[in-house]
Amino acid sequence: MKGLSVVLPAYNEREMIPIISRELTRRLEQEKISYELIFVSDGSSDGTWEEIEREADENSRVLGLEFSRNFGKDSAIFAGMAQARMDAVAVMDCDLQHPVDTLVSMYRIWENGSEIVEGVKAYRGEENFFYRKGAGWFYHILSRALKLDMEDASDFKLMDRKVVDSLLKMPERHLFFRGISAWAGYRKTQVKYEVAERAAGKSKWNWSSLIAYGFQNIVAFTTVPLQFVTVGGLICFLGSVALGIYSLIRYFQGQAVEGYTTILMVLLIIGSAIMISLGIIGFYMGKIYDEVRRRPRYLISRMTHRQEKEEKT
Ligand code: UDP
Ligand code: MG
Repeated sequence: MKGLSVVLPAYNEREMIPIISRELTRRLEQEKISYELIFVSDGSSDGTWEEIEREADENSRVLGLEFSRNFGKDSAIFAGMAQARMDAVAVMDCDLQHPVDTLVSMYRIWENGSEIVEGVKAYRGEENFFYRKGAGWFYHILSRALKLDMEDASDFKLMDRKVVDSLLKMPERHLFFRGISAWAGYRKTQVKYEVAERAAGKSKWNWSSLIAYGFQNIVAFTTVPLQFVTVGGLICFLGSVALGIYSLIRYFQGQAVEGYTTILMVLLIIGSAIMISLGIIGFYMGKIYDEVRRRPRYLISRMTHRQEKEEKT
């Protein structure tokens, strides 16, 4: 179907639902773009679902899903994509930080033959210094590790139907939307947008959740940290050769090395290197375990009805 599906993950965004829904409706109707809005409530507990239901009652182009608990933004994005029926599928936050004007220009670019239109942050809005540095550092490492340009990446994207279908085919449970869509390739166009201030509510991230998110996604996406283990082992090996030769020379010169301190140092260094390596390997093992259990990515507890009649128009 020619048109635009907009996937909107929402976690405790009660105030935002009516605002963004009306804003998108107004703008897309004005632009004569045929559309559907898919709100995915990610286990919200503040009445977000009731708001979504109300919007769906008023406007048959609004579809709502509710997760049985909080599964994270990426799961919400994939659940929304699985329901999308239009030829172009856009993902945007529902706090109006992703401007609707940019969405419209993304759609126009898609009409001219781009398969993925990516929103790239031009100005990171009111994020504080540490968050900005932290996010920058995380994407820098990720970009290096993946040899993909991820800095200034965001989840604000518009994808062609074939891209969406190929993403939905990916079998892994833990999906990192930003990474996956960079990995997928396709003809891309980037659009810069200014990150607006959040219109209402507050950011769902805190420090620990961001760090956990960073680690999880690095592990889900690359095995480079496992090579750190090998490199660490090599460095320890070189050190041990040097120290061995030195000790032997001293021994044959008749003056053995001062024993206790050296042994203690070597033991501590090797011990911690081994523990850290085991930790890294363990983290990957945990991920493998998560994947082989093959649990579903999300569970849907409620869904609004599609009004089939309207859709034919
Ligand atoms: N979100 C979600 N599940 C979560 C956390 C966030 O679906 O567990 C949604 C949230 O409702 C919003 C979007 O993801 O639409 C971005 O979240 P937020 O604005 O808190 O992040 P920030 O813009 O600060 O990066
Ligand atoms: Mg936001």
